[in-house]
Amino acid sequence: MNQSEHTSFSSNSKSELVPGRHFDAHALVIGGGIAGLTAARILADYFTQVTLIERDALNNEPELRQGVPQARHAHTLLPRGQVLLEKHFPGLVSDLLSHGAVSINPGSEIAFFKDGRWQVPQSTGEMVSIACSRPMLESAIFQRIAAHPAIQVMAGYQVAGLATDKQHQRVTGVRLIDRQKPNSQAFLHNADVVVDASGRNSQAPQWLSSLGIPPPEEWIINSFVGYTTRMYQRPDRADEAWKTLYVRPSPPHGTRGGIILPMEGNRWNVTLIGVARDYPPTDEGGFLEFARSLPTSLLYEAILPAKPLSKPAGFRRTENRVRRFDRLPLYLEGFLVMGDAVYTLNPIYAQGMTAATLSSQALAASLSEQTYRMTLDGLASAFQRNLSSVVGGLWHSTVTKEWSWPVTELDDNIEALYPFDEDERISSQSAARNASASDPIQDHPAIVGI
Ligand SMILES: Cc1cc2nc3c(=O)[nH]c(=O)nc-3n(C[C@H](O)[C@H](O)[C@H](O)COP(=O)(O)OP(=O)(O)OC[C@H]3O[C@@H](n4cnc5c(N)ncnc54)[C@H](O)[C@@H]3O)c2cc1C
Repeated sequence: MNQSEHTSFSSNSKSELVPGRHFDAHALVIGGGIAGLTAARILADYFTQVTLIERDALNNEPELRQGVPQARHAHTLLPRGQVLLEKHFPGLVSDLLSHGAVSINPGSEIAFFKDGRWQVPQSTGEMVSIACSRPMLESAIFQRIAAHPAIQVMAGYQVAGLATDKQHQRVTGVRLIDRQKPNSQAFLHNADVVVDASGRNSQAPQWLSSLGIPPPEEWIINSFVGYTTRMYQRPDRADEAWKTLYVRPSPPHGTRGGIILPMEGNRWNVTLIGVARDYPPTDEGGFLEFARSLPTSLLYEAILPAKPLSKPAGFRRTENRVRRFDRLPLYLEGFLVMGDAVYTLNPIYAQGMTAATLSSQALAASLSEQTYRMTLDGLASAFQRNLSSVVGGLWHSTVTKEWSWPVTELDDNIEALYPFDEDERISSQSAARNASASDPIQDHPAIVGI
């Protein structure tokens, strides 16, 4: 674990371009999730110094941690995300496979039930998809980041706010709390560029407001999805014709679904899904009953002889949300926001990690452009617009699908941008914007049964 002391860094207010198309400057990333890790990797191509700040203590071993409470639930990596991750971290896929990730031929080994029937598999050519736990994927990427000579990792530190120049025009760093020390006072950590990749609980709007900068407009589209997940040992005698089984909820009335996703350790991650507040129960009997009620009996029959390895645990914070950082009237120079902190997508479409990786593509494109202009000025606004053009398409395709659920609630503001065929179903939704004072991640009421 590459964990440095904050005193080892110096303030660096320059943003000159040095040979090798590097900015002689310090970039800091908030959050060690998929967006933060990939961002750090990109930033290391452009900055002489990169620091990754993560609130949780990070180990080299895959493990569930508080800062990513969704990680226990099935995480499918789409082919596009897998290709991008392999591009940034060469050898990642074979490394995961050698540590027990399961290779899946998407053309023949995924059983996909939707709209009342089995779907014909879509071939992705020669490509093999991988399935593993979210902690294992993240840990394999983290190890590469921790070993990168230009990247310093500070784990166990929580960003509590931004530091700026006197006029609040440019970010100059962050205020940090050492979570390992009780009653730790916030201290300053300097940086020229700060990338917020702190996930759906990001406090960026509050941080900007406290500086007198208008926060972004926020739109929420919610079809009220709940997940309940239980880990199983794959039965020795299992001879299924599939490796992954996905029963996707089918609008407008097929609210129930589930997935069996194979994982390292010969385990199955079994996640039950309910839309329209038809939440899967978190008690053992209720979990099985819900599985039995799915429109195909295959999932229930598969798990019945399997040995459970965990209790069922629920998660109900699944709304689509976009924060329009691309339309701010005023930007704080050097402050960028990406990943779930900007776009959170209903997980049933499995796009979040791919969107996070695409965010880093947008970052690379913006930084490349800045190197030709030989300045970091204007990076914040250019990046947020780039991000919107790269990830906005995913957002649009997701929320269009959400429209087929009668219960879906749309934020009024959505009318302003996308010409949906809207009707009387539109109703405004009050957003639960501000996270709780104590711990915005862990204390969230949508984390159920753990
Ligand atoms: C139930 C569920 C199932 C999902 N299934 C899938 C799926 O199948 N496929 C898929 O692609 N996506 C899926 N997703 C979406 C996916 O989890 C997210 O889109 C993705 O993790 C976003 O990555 P991120 O790096 O932006 O945020 P996160 O992964 O949430 O990471 C944020 C990081 O920031 C850290 N942090 C937070 N605040 C601070 C702070 N103040 N200071 C320092 N560090 C901080 C956190 O500890 C965390 O490590 C699912 C989501 C949910 C809720």
